[in-house]
Order: sequence, then C-alpha cells, then structure tokens
Amino acid sequence: MHNLSDPIISLNGLGPKAQDKLNNIGIYNLEHLLFHLPFRYQNKTKFTSLDDAQVGAEILVQLTIDRIEEVATRQRQLLCYLSDENNRTLLLRFFHFNQYHKQQLVRGDIIQCFGEIKIGREGLEMHHPEYRLISKGQANLLETTLSPVYPLTGNLHQAQLKKWINIALKTLKNSSLSDNFENLAKNSMPTLKQALETLHHPKEGENLEQIAEFKHISQQRLIIEELCAHQLSLLKLKNERKSKISNIFKISKLLSKRLSENLGFKLTNAQQRSVDEINTDLALNHPMLRLLQGDVGSGKTIVAVFACLQAIENGFQTAIMAPTEILANQHLHGFSNYLEPLGVKVAFLTGSQNTTERAEQLDAIQSGKAQVIIGTHALFQESVKFNKLGLVVIDEQHKFGVHQRLSLVQKAHNTPHQLVMTATPIPRSLTMSAYADLDTSIIDELPPGRMPIKTIALGSERKDEVVQKIKQVCKDNNQVYWVCTLIEESEVLRAESATKTHQYLQENLPGLSIVLIHGRMNKDEKSKIMHQFANGEINVLVATTVIEVGVNVPNASLMVIENSERLGLAQLHQLRGRVGRGADASICILMYQSPLSANATERIDILRQTNDGFLIANKDLELRGPGEILGTQQTGIADMKIANIVRDGYLLKQVRFYSEQFLQLDEGKQYALIMRWITADKSQYANT
Ligand code: ADP
Ligand code: MG
Repeated sequence: MHNLSDPIISLNGLGPKAQDKLNNIGIYNLEHLLFHLPFRYQNKTKFTSLDDAQVGAEILVQLTIDRIEEVATRQRQLLCYLSDENNRTLLLRFFHFNQYHKQQLVRGDIIQCFGEIKIGREGLEMHHPEYRLISKGQANLLETTLSPVYPLTGNLHQAQLKKWINIALKTLKNSSLSDNFENLAKNSMPTLKQALETLHHPKEGENLEQIAEFKHISQQRLIIEELCAHQLSLLKLKNERKSKISNIFKISKLLSKRLSENLGFKLTNAQQRSVDEINTDLALNHPMLRLLQGDVGSGKTIVAVFACLQAIENGFQTAIMAPTEILANQHLHGFSNYLEPLGVKVAFLTGSQNTTERAEQLDAIQSGKAQVIIGTHALFQESVKFNKLGLVVIDEQHKFGVHQRLSLVQKAHNTPHQLVMTATPIPRSLTMSAYADLDTSIIDELPPGRMPIKTIALGSERKDEVVQKIKQVCKDNNQVYWVCTLIEESEVLRAESATKTHQYLQENLPGLSIVLIHGRMNKDEKSKIMHQFANGEINVLVATTVIEVGVNVPNASLMVIENSERLGLAQLHQLRGRVGRGADASICILMYQSPLSANATERIDILRQTNDGFLIANKDLELRGPGEILGTQQTGIADMKIANIVRDGYLLKQVRFYSEQFLQLDEGKQYALIMRWITADKSQYANT
C-alpha cells in the first residue's frame, strides 16, 4: 500500500524517464498526481445514433461491420465500412495497422467505436477510434460515468497517466489530505477529498453536463482554490511593497495650478479621479505601484504629467520610459510642451544619441539639473546615474511586462513610486488575477467632443475606392495614415512591401505628398518624417506598424489598414486610435484579403460594432486566451491546473473574498495553499 507522500518513482511501471517528465510539471509525489486534473471528459455513457452524429463531436456508436478493404493510396490505409439497422453508414479509417488488426475485423460482427466524427467524401468517418469487438466477447465500452482526459506531457500516454492517477486516488481513500478551505467555507463547498474524487471519476447521478462545462460545485471549489493561490501570492507581494519605506511627497498645488491654467481644457472626471488617487499614494511613506488604464486617446499622458509635478515640487526626479524610440520622442514633445513653460528641465536619453549628446544628457541627469528624464530602455543602462530619482513612469505599450521593470527601480533614492500606463485597457478579469499586486486607476471616459470613428471593412480588390476616399480627405485638408501590416519574416521584406504600396499611391494620387516610414530607416530620418507629418507637411503617411503606439496627430482623419485580417484586436484598436483625435469625423478602413477565417471575420465585426476599448479587450481575451495576451512573463496565470480565467471569470469575486480571508491566517497556511497550486518555478516567480 502506498502513502500520498511516496515519490512517484515508487509506482509500478513508472521509470526514471517518466519521473523526469512529471517532475518537470511539478509532480513529485502521489499527492501531486491528484492535482493533475482532467482538462475535459469523454462521454461514453450512451450510444449515439448516426442520425444524431454531429461533425466534430466525440460519440460512442454500436454498429455492424459490412466490409473491410485495404487501399494503397499514397499512404496505405485500412478501411472498415459499418452500418446500422437503417443502413446509415460510418467509415473507419486506420493509417497504422497490421495484418492481425485486419483479420480481427470480420463482416457481420458487432463493433463499438468511440471517436470524433469527421466528414469525408463518402459521408461520416472516424479515424483510429477506440473500438471493441463485441461479437468476440471484448468488454463493453459503455461506461456509467464520464471518462477523464488528462493533459499529457512529454510522450507519456493517456492510459499510463490514468493508471498512476488511479493509484493515487486509491491511496487517497485511506489517507487524510490537508484541506485549506475546510474552515473558511464551512459546509458551503464539498471537501477537498470529495471534490478530487468527483472530478477524477464523476459518479453516476452527478450532473454530467455541469461537469462538462466546468460549472460543477466540485470544480468551482478547486478553481476558486487555485485562483486564490495565485492571487494570494500576488497580494503578498503587494503587502511586502507596502511595508517598504519610500519617500513621502508633500502634495503641493503650486505647479499643478499653473499647469491647469495653461492647459486649455479641463480634466475629465475620470482623469481628475486618477490624479487624486495617485496623489494619495504619493503622500504615503511606502512605494506606489499603480496601473493607469485607459482607452486609446483617453488622456493618460496629462495624468502622468500631474504626477511628475508632485515629484518636482518635492525635489525628486522623474524617469519616463517608453517602449520605442518614436514614442519616446512623442513623449519628449508632449511632456516638454506642458513642463517647459513651468520652468522644468527635461532630459532625453535613447540608444541612438551620439557620444557628446549622450554625455551632456547624462551629466544633466547626474547633477540633478534635469528634473524629468524621458527615454527608452537606454534608461536602464549602468552608466545612467540619477541624482534623486523618486518617480518612475512606464508606458507599457501593450506588452504588460509589469513584473520586470526592476533595474530602473534599483537606481532610485529609496524605492521609487511607480506609475505604469497601458496602451489599451486590460480586461477586468486579467487585472484581478494577473495584476492583483498593483493598484489600479481607470480612465473610463473620453475627453468631450470626440467624434466616434466610423469603421468600414473592404476587400483588397476595392483599393481604387480607397484611393478616391483619400483624395477627398486630403482636399478637406485632413491627413491620412496608410498602414501596411504584411507580416513578413524580415524587416527587409516588410519594408519592400510598404515600398510597393508607396509607389502605387504615388502613381494614383499625383499632387499629394506621400511619404514612407518604416523600421529600417535610421532614427533621425524617422523622427524628421513624424515631425513633418505632425506639422501637416505630409498628406499621406505610408507606414509599417512602427506608428502603432502613442503618435498624436489630431489633423489625421483617415486610417487605412492593409491586410487587417492579420492583426489582433488590441493592435487594430490601437492603430485605429491614431485617428479621431481632432474635431473632424474620422474613418478607419480595414482592408482585407479574402477569404477571411472565422476568427478574422469576428475580429473585424467587433471593430465595426464598437469603439469601446474595454469591450474590445474582453473579446480579445476570449478569442486569444490569457497566454497570448500576457506573453511568457506570467505563464502562471495562463497555465493553471484547472482554472481558466476566461471561462471562470465569474468566480473572481469569491476568489477575492477568500484571498482576503487567507491573508488573515498565519503564514504557514498561506504558503501551504500557494505551494499546493503553484509549482516550484512558478512560486519562485511569485517570490521575486
Ligand atoms: P492616451 O491616453 O492615448 O495616451 P493622450 O494622453 O495622448 O491619450 O491624449 C490624447 C489627446 O487628448 C491629446 O491631444 C490630449 O491633449 C487630449 N486631451 C487629454 N485630456 C483631455 C481633456 N480632458 N480634454 C480635452 N482634450 C484632452
Ligand atoms: Mg499615450
């Protein structure tokens, strides 16, 4: 008899190779096997009639063998024709088989098959089904309960995992397992032991539909527990931060008042609320870490400027980091416009400056002459010494690598306050789960007077109509972006395809100034072109996706996106947000190459229907899943044992509730929960 603490190597038939593979996914002992949960279930509890068979569904059928045939196409195949009493047919196809298999299949025999229904030239098919020859006395495939399907790892087989997990389950029967939720959720949820047993082997009489949809109370219990573990590890980070000492900023209204007077517009309520929330944080003696979220064009920059002013009035420097050189340039102009009239000195640092320029800027930063420093990742470099860094503002584009911004923080005087701005909104369920360690301010309204952008989808064959539209827009003295999105392997090919479009537009739009900008150009060239475009000297800017972030040219009112089907929702929304910034009605034309995939059609439809970035962010999460959106930085959230924040978002309120209860418990209990659900290397990330 085994114990739950036995190493997996003690299991029969589990050798060192399998051990390594299981160790890699955090399974070291029998107890860990219990938490390797089915990601779906097969339903072999009933036979399905061929009449009800749906393509793509996995079904169990019982039929008669009519004919067996071996065909020598490019790949040798064994075909087995089956039928039911009403002469409806199903074809089994085997690509791997031997003569023994073939001889076993006998005309007139009864066969049971379980597999996915496909459609072929001759009707319904199954490829390599699981099957039993009932006439030969083989055991029935019919089960009384759903069959678990486990996520596989390495080249381990489903049957092996099933066998080992079943031993762990047997061991569980006679063991006790510490239940982290027992005292928290008195009687409102099944015990851990019950939940695990139900999920590995749903019993007869359980609500199988609920289980198939992951809505069963046993699943909800474990989902909540897992999400709690993740959230708890983030909340612990947050508490740790709140116990660190930082510089207290005495909130002064002197510069803010002067800025407000110069502004020419009034902050929206949402902007003012964000400024207030930031000021409250800055006045405390522990470091702020606040995520400022807002839709494209909602006016995040000015909120950051107000935060800078507080640093300045308290004698601290602010570093503002942008993800690209173009955006850093844009911020330089944006921030300088607001700050220089107030007598604030702004320094600029990027990788492309020459030695003299650089030395000059470095000196201004080190001596403290520069109060605000704007730059790219160049700000991270070792040679950069700040005089008294107190605030760090990070513009995150839409790569939310929030957890790896640390080297800048280490250059600071005490732990600095940090403000992270996102380019587009993050779905609420992601904010609650992946960013629970941050405080959040949300700008959920646009400045008044914005005209909604009209979005149109056009097939690529209608390019000439687009050209006519451009003529009209330019006649009204407005400007145009034309974005080439061809995703080529190399920047060379990308530039080449943009060059072709550029030529085409020049030929078809004589008399207009049409200029090309792409990633292969040098920095000076690029920033010169952006300047000219901002000043209205260029009518049509043909660009690769380099213009994606941050560019602000209110006079541009038409955005054309070529091959829009190749871009994700967030990226398209971000691009579209480059127009609609001025007083004129703006249009975004999404050009596409037919035929569109179902997914691309859905993306384009969503963009046509709404300009609401928060709604779009949610759809994006549904379509792509958290893994794609978060990237590799936070695989913990994307790669959970049972929870899926898209499917389970509705449970996050309860997760929050229980996480907070856990924070009141002793450290040992908190770690027990975290260690149970977050495997070693993931918990390491949680502790950094
Ligand atoms: P984003 O949130 O996309 O970074 P920006 O900060 O670039 O947006 O602001 C977009 C534009 O809106 C800028 O031209 C800015 O001057 C303007 N703006 C910001 N706030 C307001 C406001 N309250 N009223 C009017 N215009 C505003
Ligand atoms: Mg911006």
